[in-house]
This record gives sequence, structure tokens and C-alpha cells, in this order.
Amino acid sequence: MAKERIVSPEAQPQDDLAAAAGGAGGNPLRPQRIDEYIGQAELLEKLEIALAATRQRDESLEHVLLHGPPGLGKTSLAGVIAAELGTRLHAVSGPNLTRGANLVSTLKKMQPRDVLFIDEIHRLPAAVEEYLYPAMEDFRIDFTVDAGMHPKIITLQVNPFTLIGATTRAGLLSGPLRSRFGLALHFRFYEPEELRRILTRSAALLGMPALEDATLDAMASRSRGTPRVANRLLRRVRDFAQVRHDGRLDAAIVEEALALEGIDVIGLDALDRAYLRTLAETYGGGPAGLEAIAASLGEDSGTLEDVVEPFLLQVGFLVRTRQGRRITDAATTHLGLPSPRHGAVVDPGFLEFDV
Ligand code: ADP
Repeated sequence: MAKERIVSPEAQPQDDLAAAAGGAGGNPLRPQRIDEYIGQAELLEKLEIALAATRQRDESLEHVLLHGPPGLGKTSLAGVIAAELGTRLHAVSGPNLTRGANLVSTLKKMQPRDVLFIDEIHRLPAAVEEYLYPAMEDFRIDFTVDAGMHPKIITLQVNPFTLIGATTRAGLLSGPLRSRFGLALHFRFYEPEELRRILTRSAALLGMPALEDATLDAMASRSRGTPRVANRLLRRVRDFAQVRHDGRLDAAIVEEALALEGIDVIGLDALDRAYLRTLAETYGGGPAGLEAIAASLGEDSGTLEDVVEPFLLQVGFLVRTRQGRRITDAATTHLGLPSPRHGAVVDPGFLEFDV
């Protein structure tokens, strides 16, 4: 049975959302309303137009697809949208919706104009996706009963709702599913100035004294353009300052704390560096297939593709070619490695052509 969380705008939305997103307990740092949501200006502009038009026409909002790397605020935005619409959010995770019946029972519970949030929608089983199409288009679900000689189709009507799908891999969505979203919003990595604002807000919510610009800079520049990382670093740094420096926090203490965490000046952690080193040393700088790199590292290729690679691509440390991944000179310079020889050791069996 799929786990589902229902969140009314009044009832501690951050707690339920955090749990629905897979986190344990509440997350007081999650923005609740659009004016608390920092950055992503382009995306918010499109969303605000859609929300205003929906209100003027007194309709339910079109289905929305949110895509981008993890930790950039997709789940938070789903909560914000439901709050702005004044409706309830029902949050489920795609892989947990194992049967059509899970989807039906969720949709049956929903009030008119409620929001259904499906995280990791690219991992929705194909059989469930089939039920979703007529639900998205006509707010009905078709069931086949007595499958065999005389199949009978029963149609179930559900209340109008807005589906918000979140994915780190828009490319894995089937064409029919993608085409049923009226609005597709792409998340970008955050600018340092936006991360500084997020850190300032989070520090205030955590009851910390105001942070100086240099302290904020030291954390923002190591946050990989990602609010979830920024908030995690803030908590680590706060612990470190409390235990080692009586709570005092400045840029030098941030550097000390994050060096202890193995995070370097631009935010690379041990896994990022291991990935780049493997590509440089085992595969001569590439091109190498993702599966080969993952096997060498003993890591899951999905984690590398979702969590490690987007930022390395963003900072220009990695390029994806039809023949596979290649390290760049900027990356080898950063790590103090010799320049790549490209293509010295490649197992062709592992090459991918779908990049
Ligand atoms: P995703 O669903 O994309 O993985 P989340 O919505 O769970 O990301 O965001 C991770 C955390 O980062 C949130 O708990 C929140 O504290 C913070 N966060 C994300 N986006 C923003 C934002 N735009 N403004 C302020 N905080 C944010």
C-alpha cells in the first residue's frame, strides 16, 4: 500500500511534507509561501501568472511538472503551490504507487482542486501511469473488470485536481505523460547571492545570531548551488562552532568545520573527488561510460547521475559526449592532477550512447 500524506494549509505542512519527501520529522526551514521562496525567479514568474489566471477564472491549476537535480526546492514548491491555492496537498512517491488501486484510493480522498504531488514521477510503474492519463485529462479512471471473454469497463469520476510531478530525470518520462502537463518548470542551481539569503533565513529560523557577509560567503560558495546542501552545511557548522568555539562563528571557523567534513573550497565532497579521480586515473580522463565509472567506484549509477554529475557539469569539470563522460582541464587543475590524456583506458563494452 502506498504511503500518503495529506497536508492542509493550516496543519503543520512542513512536518508532513518533510515526511512525505522521505525525511524524518519536520523541517522548519522549508518555505511555506511564495514570498518566502528564494530564487528561481524565472520559474516563479511563470507560476505566478498561471496561479493568477487560475484564480481569475476560478478553475483548478493545470498539471505542473517540476524538474531539476535533488535539493533545489521541488517538494517545497509543491507545498507552496498548494498553500497559494488554499487547498490540501496529498504527497506520494512514484515508486510507492505500485498498483492502480493505490492511485484510485488517493484520488477518491481528494477534495475538488486539491493537489496530488508525485515525487520521482519517472519511477511510476507503467501500469499506474495508464490510470493516470484519463484522470489527468478528464478526471476519471477507467477500470476493466471481468478481463477475459467479456471485459467490462467501469468509469469512476474523481474531483478535479492538480497533479504536481517532480523528477530529477525529465528525459525518462514517457511522451504521453509529459504531454499531459500544462506547465513544465525547470529548476536551476542557485546563485551565491540567493544561497546567502537562504542561509540568512535558515540561521534566523534556527535561532542563530545574524551571520556576517564573509561567514555567509564561506558557506554559500561551498553549497553546490543547492539549498539542501546550504542548510546541511549550516547545521554542521553550527554544531562545530558550539562544540569547538563556544558558538562563535566566522569565516575561518566555517572553513575549519567544512575541511573536517571533507568539503573543499568549491563544495566538492569525497564522492565528487573520487568520481573525478577515477575518471582521470582509471579511464585516462575518458570518455568512459557511467556504468563503468559506477562499477569502479562501487557506487550506484543513478546516484552518480542524479547527485554527483549535475554539479560537476555545471562547474565545467565534466562533459558528456556521445562516447561517454570526459574530465576537463579545469577539473584536473582543481584537483592537482596531470592533464587528461583522454581515452587511454576505456572498456568499450561499457560505453553509453544515450547521453
Ligand atoms: P527537492 O524536492 O528538489 O529535492 P526540497 O524542496 O526538499 O528539494 O528542498 C530541500 C531543502 O532546501 C528544503 O527543505 C528547504 O529547506 C530548502 N529550500 C529549497 N528551496 C528553497 C528556496 N527556494 N528557498 C528557501 N529554502 C529552500
